[in-house]
Amino acid sequence: MRWPLIASLLAFGCSLSLHASDSANVAALAESYDHPSLAPAARVEGLSIGIGHMTFELTSGSAAAVSAGNQIVGLFFRGTGRYVYETADTDEATIVAFESKKILGKTAEKQGDTLTIRSDFTELYLLTGKVPIPDLTAGGGGSLDEHFKKHQEKFSRVRLMPSSHLLIRQRLDRPVSLVAVAEIDAADAAVYVYDTIESKSEELIGFTHRREIANRELASAWFPAIVSEQPIGRSGRSFVEPAYLLADLDYTLTAGDREAATLSITETIVPRTIPQISYRFDLLSNVWDTNGRSRELHLLSVRDEAGHDVPFHFAKNSLIVGLPQKTKDPFKLHFEIAGDFLFHPHSDSFWELGTEAWFPQPDLNGQYYTIHSIVKVKQPYTAFAPGDTVARRQEGDYNVVENRLDKPVQFAVVLAGKYGVSEEKHEDITIRVATYASQNDHAMKQLSNLAYKMIKFYESWLGPFPFKEFNIIEIHELGFGQAPPATMFITKEAFNPLYGEDNQIFSKGINERFAHEIAHQYWGHVVKMGSAEEQWITEAFAEYSASLVIKRLRGQSSYDSLLSTWRANANDAARISPIPLANRLSVPEDQGRAFLDRTFLIYDKGAYILAVLNRQVGDTKFLTFMRSLQGMFAWKYLTTIDIAKVMQKVDDGKDYGPFFERYYWGTEMPTMPKN
Ligand SMILES: [Zn+2]
Repeated sequence: MRWPLIASLLAFGCSLSLHASDSANVAALAESYDHPSLAPAARVEGLSIGIGHMTFELTSGSAAAVSAGNQIVGLFFRGTGRYVYETADTDEATIVAFESKKILGKTAEKQGDTLTIRSDFTELYLLTGKVPIPDLTAGGGGSLDEHFKKHQEKFSRVRLMPSSHLLIRQRLDRPVSLVAVAEIDAADAAVYVYDTIESKSEELIGFTHRREIANRELASAWFPAIVSEQPIGRSGRSFVEPAYLLADLDYTLTAGDREAATLSITETIVPRTIPQISYRFDLLSNVWDTNGRSRELHLLSVRDEAGHDVPFHFAKNSLIVGLPQKTKDPFKLHFEIAGDFLFHPHSDSFWELGTEAWFPQPDLNGQYYTIHSIVKVKQPYTAFAPGDTVARRQEGDYNVVENRLDKPVQFAVVLAGKYGVSEEKHEDITIRVATYASQNDHAMKQLSNLAYKMIKFYESWLGPFPFKEFNIIEIHELGFGQAPPATMFITKEAFNPLYGEDNQIFSKGINERFAHEIAHQYWGHVVKMGSAEEQWITEAFAEYSASLVIKRLRGQSSYDSLLSTWRANANDAARISPIPLANRLSVPEDQGRAFLDRTFLIYDKGAYILAVLNRQVGDTKFLTFMRSLQGMFAWKYLTTIDIAKVMQKVDDGKDYGPFFERYYWGTEMPTMPKN
């Protein structure tokens, strides 16, 4: 589970289902964690609690046992304390040193390969499964009730999923596994998570604030920032087996008047690893519209295949569902969702359900679903969803579109609005271009031809284009592109020469962005990333593929100028973090800079590494390498470990381990070999 990534958009809405008391009642359990009770406090002195690489030293003060229902689940301490956290994971050393200072204001002390972070604290709320809690029955510590209440209020601003969801999963499905969540109140507050169940890692998380935001809830929120994340009992470089796969998504979305919608969803879940009774999903509690108003998603019901209600708890962008019994066989769940979440950005005539979790879904490593969708929108809106068109029809006031996508994908999206549509069949691929507000025949024709030309170029060395229909949809904004399956969202400068390539705000030309987004159908969908650490597999590979299009269209000098931009950008950011951990970058006083550095690493340094490899081995071997990745890992998750192995195979057995060690896992910049 990627706590901080999930967390950046959290709301505090909460809904409960208390039906079906005979099944695993995750709703009642979550309720008991939401309303914990505190025993009388005991005086403590010189007490030490060790979990993973963390030690909490309760130097002196009072502590009381915390119960959820009738079970002791942790303790609350107040007084003088100190934590000592160590990381011995050399892959993260550079970024831990950087973020420890930026986020916690602490210098991580280096000794050998170990970095140590120490901090004093005044309060500690520790929730655990299977971590022994010291005996606190001696008394003499008075009551901590008031302080405990204040602590909970304070930490309710933390935008992380409810800790109860991890603790409940441990209690119901993995009772022998150790888990812990600790809220640490200090000059710089932090949360420590020991998760042997989902992320299989331990994390030290600090917080940043965005007090300038007009919305009061967001202005007072604590946004998580990872200081350290160490794998537990696994290599940090390998694919993490998910608890389950989302294998099929079947939904009907009905857009009502204005911005109301109902979503009726049936999901096919395939459990992995052990039989489980509880299943956790990411699901947005709300979306924020462009006026800063919160639009909630109300989860009305969760039912099993027989139509029986199953208990669930939904809060802070996380949903946990309890089945009647443990299962390792595939099963279906049915969700009903309603709300006014189809907001119109800046009051424009469209809405979008994008790549965020608008339906219940696992993390990237479990998103592997085919899609059947029916989308009903009031005329004159037209809706678009990925996949083959089963039917477009009118039903009363509604325009209806039904789609089917029979390849396993991530990132299902839907968009609808006032669009002009033109469709062209180029041999085996139908390219549909949708222009915002009006029909723009000239741009449509041009973009359709350009897309097809690029697809044909990619097919010659990446293999057949993966989808029979491809939607290119104008987004009524400036400066970005996005590539959901079988889809390109691209902003208006692609459709209008007035906003065209001379626009200096966006340094890269529209052709390059267009080529990048098309390449994502290969790098991102055919071959997938299983975690945020592997994002260069989508971004750097799409970027480099696009540069080969540019070389073909514009010649060597345009390609060379892309290379020098990448090198210059990467040089700036390389020392801060290795590529795989760049998504962790957070700089409280300058998040814009942090985002830029992240981009310079994942896109620019990543693409530059590929350019160096290309120059080293020559075009023939390099294109074989790209084609082999597409062939061997088609509709699979790819890891960088496998990338190095494939490169080795293609280059006559030469060991590429050291190359990736220095430039990908490490912070060095490679040098371009002379031609
Ligand atoms: Zn991209």
